[in-house]
Amino acid sequence: MRLCTRCVLPGIYRNIHFDANGICNYCHTYERLRTRLTDFKALSALGDERFERVRGRYPYDCLIGLSGGKDSSWIALQLVRKKKLKCLGFTFDNGFLTDYARSNIRLVAERLGIEHFFYEVDWDIHKRFYEQAVRWFGTPCPGCSYSSYALSYKIAFERQIPLVVHGRSRSQMFRELLAGSPDAFLPFVKLNISPYEREKNLQATLEARMKIERFISIAMPNRVMRQRFYDEFFPPTDELRDAAMIPEFLGYFLYQYYDEGAMMDELEKELGWERPDRSGILTHADCAVHDAAEYLYRQVFGYPMVSFELSVLVREGDLPREEALKLLAEHTGRESVPDESLDYLCEQVSIQRGELAGICKRLRRQKRWRNRLLRIKNFLLRPKLDL
Ligand SMILES: [Zn+2]
Repeated sequence: MRLCTRCVLPGIYRNIHFDANGICNYCHTYERLRTRLTDFKALSALGDERFERVRGRYPYDCLIGLSGGKDSSWIALQLVRKKKLKCLGFTFDNGFLTDYARSNIRLVAERLGIEHFFYEVDWDIHKRFYEQAVRWFGTPCPGCSYSSYALSYKIAFERQIPLVVHGRSRSQMFRELLAGSPDAFLPFVKLNISPYEREKNLQATLEARMKIERFISIAMPNRVMRQRFYDEFFPPTDELRDAAMIPEFLGYFLYQYYDEGAMMDELEKELGWERPDRSGILTHADCAVHDAAEYLYRQVFGYPMVSFELSVLVREGDLPREEALKLLAEHTGRESVPDESLDYLCEQVSIQRGELAGICKRLRRQKRWRNRLLRIKNFLLRPKLDL
């Protein structure tokens, strides 16, 4: 399969095209924005300005979603111990939290002395959302990321907490750094790395919401269910427009260099945080169905889920391309089917194991057509991303 000669994105990746040297448009976009995205002195000043703007003015300064993984745990540690901010912790109990995650969450909240609660989703609705995510997108992951982030925003809005600090890594935030991307979180990247303005915050929030709603309208065709979903996860738009304070959805790793190894060392030393058994790069020990999700993704898209995250690491200079290729080969070469994880996913979301192959086959065909159309559209319109 053709790969970008600079990063490791495959030639069948959404929206991709190559120049004469085989370098992809994602690499070119990143290159154009590199100075802005890596000037950590200016960026951390922007972050600190935000923390100072809200400090002590509301019942809590920040809301942090704790998943039990390294990223959110480390951010909680920074916000509480280094920035001395008053934080409220919450965990989106998606039904797939591992015991490992639960014990780390409790440990982090207790050692840092922060108030924390588990939010249990309305499983009746959410189960269908996961099911539809698998049927329409070939992976349950959007079911979590969209609803947990939407929910964190709603909780912050209702409780008057001005900052929702999330733990998306730089590779997660920058993987779709391209004009015309449907990535719902992209509007916040631009917002977070500019001086704060309420109007811009409202616009970014509404744009992200519109993108998530587009996704949900596909994944949840039933209108009644869809409305129940919006009611549970989104604050009403008119209330948001008129509110004196609207929270900002903040990516901590935009302001801060991301070093997985150093972060885990610090967590162990400072909090006695437990490192996962598989602590290799880009693992997700906090999710019981991650192996299933990764497997399904590979079946549908034809390349491993880690491709885009590895590519960001290469572009940012954090991983040599040869290393990324090795890791990619490891993921591509995984022939074993993660039966346990797949069975668990199917059982939870009421899909028959036997249906999966058919679902993947149908989606593979659809993706091919969608990619072609997107390529033509982008060739004609040539959109440009400006941060
Ligand atoms: Zn590339």
